[in-house]
Amino acid sequence: MKTKVLSVDKMLGNEKKYKHAVDILKSGGLVAFPTETVYGLGALATDEQAVRKIFEAKGRPSDNPLIVHIGNPDLISLFATTISEHAERLIEAFWPGPLTVVLKKKPGIIAPSVTPGVETVGLRMPDHPVALELLKALNGPIAAPSANRSGKPSPTTAYHVADDLSGLIPLIMDGGQTGIGVESTVIDMTTTPPTILRPGGVTREMIESKIGPVTIANDNSDDQAPRAPGMKYMHYAPKAPLFVISSDIERLTEAVRTLQNEGKRVAVITPNELEVAIADWQFFVGHQLDKEAIAANLYGALRQCDLTEADTILAVETDLDGVGTAIMNRLMKAADGQRYSQ
Ligand code: AMP
Ligand code: MG
Repeated sequence: MKTKVLSVDKMLGNEKKYKHAVDILKSGGLVAFPTETVYGLGALATDEQAVRKIFEAKGRPSDNPLIVHIGNPDLISLFATTISEHAERLIEAFWPGPLTVVLKKKPGIIAPSVTPGVETVGLRMPDHPVALELLKALNGPIAAPSANRSGKPSPTTAYHVADDLSGLIPLIMDGGQTGIGVESTVIDMTTTPPTILRPGGVTREMIESKIGPVTIANDNSDDQAPRAPGMKYMHYAPKAPLFVISSDIERLTEAVRTLQNEGKRVAVITPNELEVAIADWQFFVGHQLDKEAIAANLYGALRQCDLTEADTILAVETDLDGVGTAIMNRLMKAADGQRYSQ
């Protein structure tokens, strides 16, 4: 299959491009498109055959549920049965935006493969002009996970999508680099109190300021206890083993030296302030205090590590304030839970 890439950055001639995308979706095909978090790989969420193609193209385990994207909060009642007052308050406050709400699903509407083995559906209204325009033109729900091959970092540019899925999907809509760079916050509103299944751009503090206390699902990879749906897979891993390390420049330099003495070549992912002169490769992700920039550039840096010949990757941790929780959640997954220790 030949993959077409259509730029939707500029205003001119875009109706034709959206029509092309809608024609593909309506005939059961897949379209990759930008959202404000990462690029999504979309299919019409009511078309079972089309949704199955997502799992095939990504190589995604079939028991990992997909998020359903909608263009308008009023559409929720088409897909979910009960919408609690708290859910309504969150939607009112944070949609469109990087918040997925998990609600009890209405049976028989969304294709079964979207919500394998669960009675719930994850819904989100993205805050990106291309995603919203596509949803409007389609006038239907789009099931879309991140547009990467399963196990690779989520794509934050159309080039990342093409690297992973070229030849496997008919169309990539190129809307430039995505703004937030980590996936949406997922909150299960069917539990009391609600449970954050995945931290993201909408932080716990932001949520609690609207609805009071919530819990955070245990996401420890050493934990043998059953996890919430969609939480049991390691994500975001670059090819070389990655270790999380503190931002102490002396410790970082010493770690690089020790690894090099063992014959390893080392890539480091650091804030702009930490220059590690002896590192074999260094990728800067943004100023230490600018965690929005670090989130936006993190996956790109992980992918760049895959283009080097590094044997080991050291990634500098951030604090847990604001989007820092989401950054550290993704980094610890990329590290398979490992911190660097001599
Ligand atoms: P991705 O789109 O690849 O970022 O993955 C979507 C993630 O959203 C899944 O891995 C789950 O963590 C979560 N999710 C989506 N729908 C549900 C649901 N109905 N119940 C629980 N988690 C969900
Ligand atoms: Mg994903």
